[in-house]
Amino acid sequence: MGRSALVLGGGMVGVSTAWHLQQRGYDVVLVDRREPGQETSYGNAGLIQREAVEPYAFPHDLLKLAQVALRRGNDVNYRFSDLLAVAPRLVEYWWNSGPKRYGTISHGFEALIRHSLSEHDRMISASGAGDLVSHEGWTQLFRTEKGFDEGTARARHFAREFGVENRILDSATLSRAEPALIRPMTGAIYWPSPYSVKDPGALVQRYADLFIAGGGRVVHGDAKTLANLAHGWTVETSDGPVSAEQAVIALGPWASDLTGAMGYRFPLFVKRGYHRHFKWDGHLNAPMIDTDAGVALLPMERGLRVTTGAEFAQRDAPPSWKQMIGSEHLAREMLDIGEAVEATPWIGSRPCVADMLPIIGEAPAHTGLWFHFGHAHQGFTLGPATGRLCAEMMAGEAPYIDPMPYRPTRFRFDRRAFPV
Ligand SMILES: Cc1cc2nc3c(=O)[nH]c(=O)nc-3n(C[C@H](O)[C@H](O)[C@H](O)COP(=O)(O)OP(=O)(O)OC[C@H]3O[C@@H](n4cnc5c(N)ncnc54)[C@H](O)[C@@H]3O)c2cc1C
Repeated sequence: MGRSALVLGGGMVGVSTAWHLQQRGYDVVLVDRREPGQETSYGNAGLIQREAVEPYAFPHDLLKLAQVALRRGNDVNYRFSDLLAVAPRLVEYWWNSGPKRYGTISHGFEALIRHSLSEHDRMISASGAGDLVSHEGWTQLFRTEKGFDEGTARARHFAREFGVENRILDSATLSRAEPALIRPMTGAIYWPSPYSVKDPGALVQRYADLFIAGGGRVVHGDAKTLANLAHGWTVETSDGPVSAEQAVIALGPWASDLTGAMGYRFPLFVKRGYHRHFKWDGHLNAPMIDTDAGVALLPMERGLRVTTGAEFAQRDAPPSWKQMIGSEHLAREMLDIGEAVEATPWIGSRPCVADMLPIIGEAPAHTGLWFHFGHAHQGFTLGPATGRLCAEMMAGEAPYIDPMPYRPTRFRFDRRAFPV
C-alpha cells in the first residue's frame, strides 16, 4: 500500500484532517455512520473563536462552586444520577484548572487558536464557502457589575498578552449598537475578529465536498469495526472492507468507544449542550452570548439558534431540558422571538479531556493509528488548524506547531496492558 489513510469521523475535525492529508498526496477514505457534519459539528454555536485563547476552566471560586453544586445557575448543570460516574474526570479537570497548571495548558491552547482563522480561511476559500461565513465578530454580554469587571479585566489581558482585539461597551453604547436588545445589560465586550457561520453543518459539508472534488471518498461505516492488518488498518463499510496504511480516530465524543476497547484509558468526558431555533425577523449586528447566564443568541439559516451552557452527564443519558428551558426564558427576555422551529431541541456533547487540550498524535501501542479528538468547546474553531498538524505528523513533515502539549503519551500509559 502507498500513502493512504482512513479517517474515522466526519465532523469538523475528521473532514479537515482528510483534506490536509489529501493535500499531501494521500489516498484518503473518510468513514462515518452519517453524512459529514451532522453531529456536534452541526449543533454548535457556529463561532470560529479567535478570541478563545484560554480553554474553559473548572471554577475554583468557592461561591461559583457552591452555585454549581446547588444547580443554581443556568450556565452549568449536572445529572445527579451520573455524578459518581463523571466525578473522577471532574476532579482531574478541577485540578488542571488550578492557576499554575492552567497557565501551562493555556499556553498550549493559544498556540492552536492563533491559527484558527488563517486555517479556516484556506478551506473557506478553496471550498467557496464564503457565503456561509460572517466576519462581524460576536458580543459578550454581562448582567452584573462583578461579571463585567472580571470580563473587562480578562479582555484587557487578552489584548495585552495575545493581541486579541476587543471593545468594551457600557450599557448605553450596547443599546445603541444593538437596538433589538430589549433587556438592558450592565455592559458588554465586543470581539471583532471571530467569524460566525450561519449553518455550521453546511460548512463541514462544503469542506467535505472540497475533499471529494479532490478525489477523496466518503463512505458509510461503523468505526468500531476497525481492525489491525499486518501492514495497515481496515474497516467495514457499506462499500465493503476498506484498508489503508494509516488510520485516524476523529470521532469527537465517540472516540472513547474505540480507544477504550483498544485498551487506552484517557481522561475523556463530555459536556452536553442543547440548542433550539426560534422564529425571529429582527436583526443583530453580531451574535451575542451571555456566558455567565448560559445563553447564546445566534442568527442562523433556520432561525435564531439559542444554545445552552454545559451539562455534566454521561453522553448517552436521557436529555434534561432544564437548561434549554432556562435559556429560552433568558432569550425571550432579551429579544422579541417567536415560536420554536423544531418540536424537540437538539442535544449534543462537547468532547472533553481533563487537561483541556486535544489529544493529537500516534497511538503509542499501535503503529499507523493516530488519535485526533478532544477539542471540547472549540472543535469547530480548531478543526482545520489541528487537522493540518495531525496530517503533517502523519506524513513525517516538520509540524508547524510544537505537538508536545497534545501528545497521547502525556497520560499514564502502561505498555503491559497491550498485547505485543
Ligand atoms: C451547544 C454547543 C455549542 C458549541 N459552540 C461552539 C462554537 O461556537 N465554536 C466552536 O469552535 N466549537 C463549539 N462547540 C464545540 C464543537 O461543536 C465540537 O468541539 C466539535 O464539533 C467537535 O468536532 P468533532 O469533529 O471532533 O466531532 P463531531 O462533529 O461530533 O464528529 C464526530 C463524527 O464521528 C461520527 N461517529 C461517531 N461514532 C461513529 C462510529 N461508530 N462509526 C462511524 N462514525 C462515527 C459521528 O457521526 C460524527 O460525524 C460547541 C458544542 C456544543 C455542544
